[in-house]
Amino acid sequence: MSKVYLDYAATTPAHPEVIKTMLPYFGEKYGNASSLHSFGQEARSAIEKARKTTADFIKASPEEVIFTSGGTESDNSAILGIAYANQERGNHIITSSVEHHAVLEVCHFLEKRGFKISYLPVDNYGMVNPDDVKKAITSQTILVTIIHASNEVGTIQPIAEIGKITKTAGVYFHTDSVQTFGHLPINVNELNVDLLSVSGHKLYGPKGVGVLYIRKGTKLVPFMIGGGQEDGRRGSTYNTPGIVGFGKAVEIANLEMVEEGQLLSGLRDQLINGLLSKIDLVKLNGHPVKRLPNNVNISLAYVEGEATLLSLDYEGVCASTGSACSSESMGPSHVLTAMCVPAEQARCSIRFSLGKWTRQADVNKVLEVLPRIMTKLRGMSPLYNKTSKKAS
Ligand SMILES: *Cc1c(COP(=O)(O)O)cnc(C)c1O
Repeated sequence: MSKVYLDYAATTPAHPEVIKTMLPYFGEKYGNASSLHSFGQEARSAIEKARKTTADFIKASPEEVIFTSGGTESDNSAILGIAYANQERGNHIITSSVEHHAVLEVCHFLEKRGFKISYLPVDNYGMVNPDDVKKAITSQTILVTIIHASNEVGTIQPIAEIGKITKTAGVYFHTDSVQTFGHLPINVNELNVDLLSVSGHKLYGPKGVGVLYIRKGTKLVPFMIGGGQEDGRRGSTYNTPGIVGFGKAVEIANLEMVEEGQLLSGLRDQLINGLLSKIDLVKLNGHPVKRLPNNVNISLAYVEGEATLLSLDYEGVCASTGSACSSESMGPSHVLTAMCVPAEQARCSIRFSLGKWTRQADVNKVLEVLPRIMTKLRGMSPLYNKTSKKAS
């Protein structure tokens, strides 16, 4: 049975070109990029090429880009770095109630250590209101951190509008753009962000490498202290294969992103409309238009998310319930809860995330198997049978 992978938001396979580009840096090109001899300089120039490619891609300059171990490290180092470097200016941080755990848990961590955190509410589509950001800013505010687009429900936040507000107020602005970088065009100046987090394995690059964009002049303490790499902003020997692979992934995104987004949003809408018409008691989560081109998140009443996922997997369809991280912790996701999705509906939310190798046949397959699975699972639900009998 051929498998249908629809979990690209959890991770993407590395592009074959990315793997090909990385391989020599595990083998013959093994130099430490900090070494002065030719082996070192060969690695160094490959890293600087990747840095330039990345900077150009978001309209930044190369000195404003550092390489990290991934999205989690970039989020952690942005928030902790700003918090500890700007404590004398204030102790207030503004975030949203729909952040990734790599932001949310850092805010909880700081809250226990004397910082004040405002968790802004969202509307039913999961959208932050820029006016709420404006109202929440006080003389003590040092940082606003808002996710660019939700990994769970795909809603794209009004980052440029929020950026105007933070710029006027003189407050640092960070965005977790792990789900958008390489998928939507990003211009750090149009967005008015000071810090931006990226992860390689969400754009067909390798796992364990990411980027943090740091606008020139931003006051940040380093998160990793060591041998002075990245101009003292992040110690540890450069991950040459990872960085080179990341750079290749950005090159490919630069060429393919726009057309790919158009194709995927077409398939996305087909999947959404098909599910809404073929299954009863189904609801789309997230914004109908301002959403990632690859995200489909639905709630199915009278079934369990886990049972639905396992049945899908049995039919060869790989999807996800909640986010990849929260599927280990039961209970409704914090994102759906913040959007006021009722708990019983949030329990059976399924996310399909499409990607570079998703084809029409994959969408057709889901539209064929999921209605069948629903009939079977709901057939076993006394509550559903009672309700549907009453309705007929
Ligand atoms: C995947 C993801 C992360 C974490 O990135 P890692 O590289 O896996 O640490 C952070 N934020 C968002 C929105 C993500 O989707």
